[in-house]
Amino acid sequence: MSFDFLIVGAGFAGSVLAERIASQLGKTCLVVERRNHIGGNAYDHHDRAGVLVHDYGPHYFRTNSQRIVDYLSQFTEWHPVEYKILSWTHGRFWQFPINLNTFEELIGRPSTTEEMEAQLAEWRVKIANPKNSEEVIVSQVGWKLYEMFFQNYTRKQWQRDARQLDPSVCGRIPIRTNRDDRYLSEKFQALPKNGYTSMFQKILSHPKIDVWLNTDYREVRQHVRFGHLIFTGPIDEYFDHCFGRLPYRSLRFEPETLPQEYFQPAMQVNYPNDHDFTRIVEIKHARGQKLPSTTIVREYPQNFGPGHEPYYPIPAPDAKALYSKYAERAALEKNVGFVGRLATYRYYNMDQIVGMALAEFNRLRISRQYQVSVAQPSMLSPAFL
Ligand SMILES: Cc1cc2nc3c(=O)[nH]c(=O)nc-3n(C[C@H](O)[C@H](O)[C@H](O)COP(=O)(O)OP(=O)(O)OC[C@H]3O[C@@H](n4cnc5c(N)ncnc54)[C@H](O)[C@@H]3O)c2cc1C
Repeated sequence: MSFDFLIVGAGFAGSVLAERIASQLGKTCLVVERRNHIGGNAYDHHDRAGVLVHDYGPHYFRTNSQRIVDYLSQFTEWHPVEYKILSWTHGRFWQFPINLNTFEELIGRPSTTEEMEAQLAEWRVKIANPKNSEEVIVSQVGWKLYEMFFQNYTRKQWQRDARQLDPSVCGRIPIRTNRDDRYLSEKFQALPKNGYTSMFQKILSHPKIDVWLNTDYREVRQHVRFGHLIFTGPIDEYFDHCFGRLPYRSLRFEPETLPQEYFQPAMQVNYPNDHDFTRIVEIKHARGQKLPSTTIVREYPQNFGPGHEPYYPIPAPDAKALYSKYAERAALEKNVGFVGRLATYRYYNMDQIVGMALAEFNRLRISRQYQVSVAQPSMLSPAFL
């Protein structure tokens, strides 16, 4: 068996590259995926209650890039969503991310942007260049709001204090003094109309793309001939962990279907200070599916180890230093591209991964720095999709 490209992983990174290479360069691609489905962490499916659930945590698609919307729109229509979430603490729900409504809830009366800004100016801790996640938040809203909403949530999620984590971890949560109560600020916020998996099926349905599920790269690398490799799995695994294992944070998802239309007042409720789980997601809110039952998912942060998926690279200096060793080694590999969040050991949103894959494709196309397999395969066509 021989293919021009062997692509490891059928998430956004691997699937977008396979689609571009097959449709624009006319080259053959074998995509191997060790899970039993395509879509990577964005995979979704209809559960027994009929709810379109996200198996690996809620995936809220959003972007400011029209180019990425245009690219993906070839494979899906969209269901616009304004993602709204709440936080539960001190015995009640609060609007989150912090905005003027949260401030009013806190002081127990109507207020204004001017009053909120004046109050935050008093509460803020003066830090010119915040160097970690704790400093980022206290320099914007002070200790009280930090302790209510961020301190323990971050500890639960990362098993590290916010002051041990990069500014970007808490810094990406907006803080607003107006009434904009959307979770996210990007211009385009929507879910694929028929779900992510359906979109991925279209991305990968090209005659020059074969997809083998339940297949680990390590099992096929000796048996399949290929010219160029695109690797979207964990970079330390590619090098047999020669410098040690990169640390990750993992998650356990606990779904529960309930015989009622809705369980909670919003799509996502954060639990910064109560319970062992960080959040309960009721994704049905996002699509407005009309069903008599609902499914909620409790999300428990876990240590990463055998049997656990590597979800979040640890955004801290020690982990980054270890990654740099692998990155240096990767730069010496010939005819291999390392693309995606596991291969570059960094948390990215889906749109950023699509952007990364499109950029890698352009680099390949322009530089033509890829080997093409010598013999053309008699293509297998396993009905995996
Ligand atoms: C809990 C959670 C919530 C998230 N929510 C959002 C969100 O709301 N919005 C957003 O934009 N982004 C979100 N993300 C980020 C999003 O999941 C990623 O941006 C995206 O999935 C990255 O795509 P990828 O292709 O790089 O990686 P993945 O989706 O992880 O795909 C990599 C694939 O490679 C496969 N693989 C690895 N090693 C091998 C091997 N040796 N052989 C064969 N196959 C292999 C894996 O099984 C996996 O399917 C979230 C992530 C998590 C963990």
